[in-house]
Amino acid sequence: MTTSRNLGIRKRIALVAHDHKKEDLLDWADYNRSVLARHELIATGTTGRLLEERLDRPVKKVLSGPMGGDQQIGAMIAAGEIDVLIFFWDPMEAQPHDPDVKALLRLAVVWNIPAASNRTTSDFLMTSPLMYGEYKTVIPDYSSYLNRKL
Ligand code: PGA
Repeated sequence: MTTSRNLGIRKRIALVAHDHKKEDLLDWADYNRSVLARHELIATGTTGRLLEERLDRPVKKVLSGPMGGDQQIGAMIAAGEIDVLIFFWDPMEAQPHDPDVKALLRLAVVWNIPAASNRTTSDFLMTSPLMYGEYKTVIPDYSSYLNRKL
């Protein structure tokens, strides 16, 4: 039994960047300003504040990543409240909240949402025609796991 979720025309895009990747994300967001304008933006605390300043538009902010923000974004993915994840994580530095980072990346796969971890993939995502219409994501079949005999 497969289930699906509908990603609407106006997508809810979560944005997260580690400190050494924030400038990269801000430049990327500036470059993609017109496509981002069509969608709702949600971000971890500091990333969201910087994006609001750079894009001069409101961004819904959750807590700062290390304070629980990554987990809040992950919970929103699980609840079907995030359609796309743009997560510029730093491959060169361990983070105090590494388990949260891993958990967030995992949930993006569990719920099969489009997720990008670098600038090039994020550009490819933003230029996809699927960003302009509705899209039905197929949720992997977890029923045998959920109904397992214990
Ligand atoms: P921040 O969190 O946007 O609050 O800096 C990002 C992160 O490290 O997860």
